Amino acid sequence: MTAATDSPNEIPVFSERLDTLMSAMIDGEAPNVGRFCGYCYTPLGKKADTCTHCARTTSEYEPVAKLPSELFDLYRRMRKRESLVVNSFAFAGLGLGLVLFILLVAVAVYRFNQSLWMLAGATAVLIVGGRIFAGILGGWIGDSIGYDFAHRRLVEEWTVYEREREARLGRATTPPGNPLPGHG
Ligand SMILES: [Zn+2]
Repeated sequence: MTAATDSPNEIPVFSERLDTLMSAMIDGEAPNVGRFCGYCYTPLGKKADTCTHCARTTSEYEPVAKLPSELFDLYRRMRKRESLVVNSFAFAGLGLGLVLFILLVAVAVYRFNQSLWMLAGATAVLIVGGRIFAGILGGWIGDSIGYDFAHRRLVEEWTVYEREREARLGRATTPPGNPLPGHG
């Protein structure tokens, strides 16, 4: 979530409240009921008539009582992409620790007459260093790159989803002459 401000889109697809709620729903900690913005699905207060996230009114976009399953698909894919990037960076960090370990072992063996102290130091670098590198690369660099990457793809998928939804609900914002999918 650190790089949200660098995002090319002013408004994130999922508001923070929706993000938290969806993650709780996926974990089975919250039921999929409520009153949600008919456009972006941010939870609305019982009497709210304007969405706090996308500023659309309930008269333009009728609130819904349940989040659609497609939204969870988008959400899961975003999270998966995010963790894929973070994990790749974390593995690269572990790999870096391994490379350092091998180098130190080589130095210990060939330069320091198989010094046990050097070998112990190399092992410490492997165990502790690997984790530190994994933490730095995964949690710091990977997190920010992963967020940007996953969010950019999410915006693309959301655009497609939104267009299909609006067409389906007859609120079409699609330009005329655009063929509807699933016909013929
Ligand atoms: Zn909204």
